[in-house]
Amino acid sequence: MPQIDDKLAPIYEEVVRRNAGEPEFHQAVREVLESLGRVVAKRPDYLEDALIERICEPERQIIFRVPWTDDKGRVQINRGFRVQFSSAMGPYKGGLRFHPSVNVGIIKFLGFEQIFKNALTGLPIGGGKGGSDFDPKGRSDGEIMRFCQSFMTELYRHLGEYTDVPAGDIGVGAREIGYLFGQYKRLTNRYEAGVLTGKGLFYGGSLARKEATGYGNTYFTQAMLKTGGTDFDGKTVVVSGSGNVAIYTIEKVQEFGGRVVACSDSSGYIVDEAGIDLDLVKEIKEVRRGRISQYVRMKGEGNGVYFVKSGEGSIWDVACEVAMPSATQNELTGKDAKKLVANGVTAVGEGANMPCTPEAIRTFQQAGVKFGPGKAANAGGVATSALEMQQNASRDRWSFEKTESRLATIMRDIHDSCYSTAEEFGAPGDYVIGANIAGFIRVAEPMRAFGVI
Ligand code: NDP
Repeated sequence: MPQIDDKLAPIYEEVVRRNAGEPEFHQAVREVLESLGRVVAKRPDYLEDALIERICEPERQIIFRVPWTDDKGRVQINRGFRVQFSSAMGPYKGGLRFHPSVNVGIIKFLGFEQIFKNALTGLPIGGGKGGSDFDPKGRSDGEIMRFCQSFMTELYRHLGEYTDVPAGDIGVGAREIGYLFGQYKRLTNRYEAGVLTGKGLFYGGSLARKEATGYGNTYFTQAMLKTGGTDFDGKTVVVSGSGNVAIYTIEKVQEFGGRVVACSDSSGYIVDEAGIDLDLVKEIKEVRRGRISQYVRMKGEGNGVYFVKSGEGSIWDVACEVAMPSATQNELTGKDAKKLVANGVTAVGEGANMPCTPEAIRTFQQAGVKFGPGKAANAGGVATSALEMQQNASRDRWSFEKTESRLATIMRDIHDSCYSTAEEFGAPGDYVIGANIAGFIRVAEPMRAFGVI
């Protein structure tokens, strides 16, 4: 197991002590500190002024009550969060997650990762994350709207296009962003388009934002494959999830000639050996808001098409050459990784945030599998959010082609910067170390320039 350098170990111990009961946050901090030993060995000045300690402590954490009324007239109470982690690079930027598993530790892990991810894009955005333990599943449009309005009624006072700019994440798509933006506009009496990203195209949204995270991970993974002289063409691919990130990963992989044979949701996974019919997945998920098992009912079982219920198997049992976990954190375990390696996987690109456990990452790296960590591989979403902010600020609107071409360039630059940083710090081919160090250095420099704040 990689170790934390002796000089950094006390920082980790203090993070664990001060943030008790937040294992995902500890996991995210640990991974970064494991990489930074190589930096402080070369540049001990980064240990001055508690720079690394400061990066591990959010600038501000907001927790609030969200009362709302359901369709039966009952008052429901949820908890809302916004962790404004670092504004060294620009306004806090990061999505909102609505899922019953949300707690402050999950939001902190996501906000912490976001700092480095956003720095890697090379765009002027700081790191933050927010959300609620609200479960949107099975709720009517009216209930979703009333929840979003109540959530924004507290959150709006902490936001602004130069302060904090949320976007979507799990459970927060175009519908929710619309309700949130509407309430922000009403409360502030300002049409401040740049205060939220992931907006609808008819009120300040950017073309290609919806596709950006999935497309971006595909560009990143393609760049990793190219370092081994190969690409997606003809490869068998498994993509977990069937939400925003998964759907547009499947779309781009198919365009690049890959055959995606499985995808999933929290109820289980489907396999279609001939290649997933993406129009059908979109119909089920984007239009009907249904369950992935409907795919098998609509397509007909047999001929390589089947559904495996959650708990009765893992999507990672399906053999593939490229795996792209795109559902949620810690969804791919050490055991799953061993199975994937045994089945011949050659590259893994994380579409979700921290979907692979530390043991899984170790297994991939020891087996020589190219591994793209989420903070680099899924940065295309936030990068395109920053492009949406640019368009809003200049009251301009770019074509799909122009936006996607900027995205593709950004993803290749992120890949190259992770690759060359890993080499520079004596860990060739290790994208985890490359991403952590390249992201850290970009944030550390402005922090130092600002003095002790
Ligand atoms: P969506 O809500 O659109 O989709 C999430 C998908 O993952 C759904 O298929 C969902 O299934 C599944 N899922 C969620 N939680 C679980 C769970 N506990 N167990 C099994 N399956 C689960 O979210 P996104 O596609 O936007 O986000 C997916 C991941 O990508 C997250 O980690 C997110 O943080 C990350 N990400 C998203 C970005 C974006 O631009 N949207 C940007 C960067 C990262 P079900 O419907 O059954 O819940």
